[in-house]
Parts: sequence; structure tokens; C-alpha cells
Amino acid sequence: MKTALFPSKPVNLDRSRTGFQRSSKGPMIREDFPMSAPSVSIQGCGYLVDFGSDCEQRFHRVSKNKECSCGATYCEAIDAVRFYLQAGGDRAPDPEGMPPCPICGSKTYRDRNWDGKYTKELGWRCTKGGLRHFLDAKAERIKKNLAENPWLIPPAPGYPGVRQDELMTWEECEAINRKVFLETGYDPTA
Ligand SMILES: [Zn+2]
Ligand SMILES: [Zn+2]
Repeated sequence: MKTALFPSKPVNLDRSRTGFQRSSKGPMIREDFPMSAPSVSIQGCGYLVDFGSDCEQRFHRVSKNKECSCGATYCEAIDAVRFYLQAGGDRAPDPEGMPPCPICGSKTYRDRNWDGKYTKELGWRCTKGGLRHFLDAKAERIKKNLAENPWLIPPAPGYPGVRQDELMTWEECEAINRKVFLETGYDPTA
């Protein structure tokens, strides 16, 4: 890890290059932190990242959903937590008590296999309805979301816009979920 106090090129140039790499090649491991590595510690059910007193925004709280308290989607604090976990750092505890099943109200329990990769939703199963209720709830939420916010790209002068349901309907989402079920062998009613 480079910890040179006087980098040969400006730090902001370095950051923009990193951003470019990320967007063009997807997630990748960065080998160079600007300055020294931030410290990561467990705070509650998430992680506290300390960038040191030199940093304007010193403390960042990163949740288990990989969201940072500062609101930046690609905050370096999220990377710091990933490195920390890759290096064998302790994991923060799961939040106590999952919310009840939105379909039947029964207790639910975490199932990491169904954590949303892109949506950052926590995966779970219902003690009564199993995975089926998780998928039902997901489809319901997509329907509701579509009703409230139909535009993926709102119309603008000279541009008709793109509706979310033009890209993917909730039925298609359900079909994809079923396909995943068939491929991975998860029994929705188990
Ligand atoms: Zn942050
Ligand atoms: Zn249920």
C-alpha cells in the first residue's frame, strides 16, 4: 500500500481515474488509497470508518447494505469496509429481529442468498410461507414502485422519456425469480 505523503500526481486526478475504471470495468480492487488507509471499526450493526483528522468529513458510517451515511454511492468508506472484511476483519452483527412478513405477518429470518445484489435489499424467508412470501413481497414492491414512479427517465422537451415498465414488468421480475429458483434449487415453499 502506498502511503506517500506527497503523491507525484494530484490526488483529485487519481480519484477521477479510479472512478473511470470502476464505471468501465465494474467493481475492482483498488490498490492505492489516497494517503493512509482509513480505520474501520464495528459500530452497532454497521461499520464506522475514520479517515483521520485531516479529512473534512472524517467519520462515515457504512451499513451492512453497503450504504454510506454521507450519501455518496461510491464512497471510499464502502471500499474501506470491503478491504477490512477481505483482510479478515470481524463482521458487524445482524440487526436484531427482522420485520414481520409483509404477506402474512409471520416471523421472518435472514437469508443472505437472496440479498439484492443491485437493490441492496436484505434477503429473508418467511417462517410460514418460506421464500414464496419473499418473492411475493418483492413483486408487490416493484408494482407499487412502478405505480408511484413510472418514469425511469422522465420526459423532457424533445424526448419522450422511458417508463420503467418498458424495461421490465413485475411479471418479468417474477419470471426471473422463478428461473433463479429452478436453477438454484431453492424451494419457494420450504
Ligand atoms: Zn461516505
Ligand atoms: Zn409470510
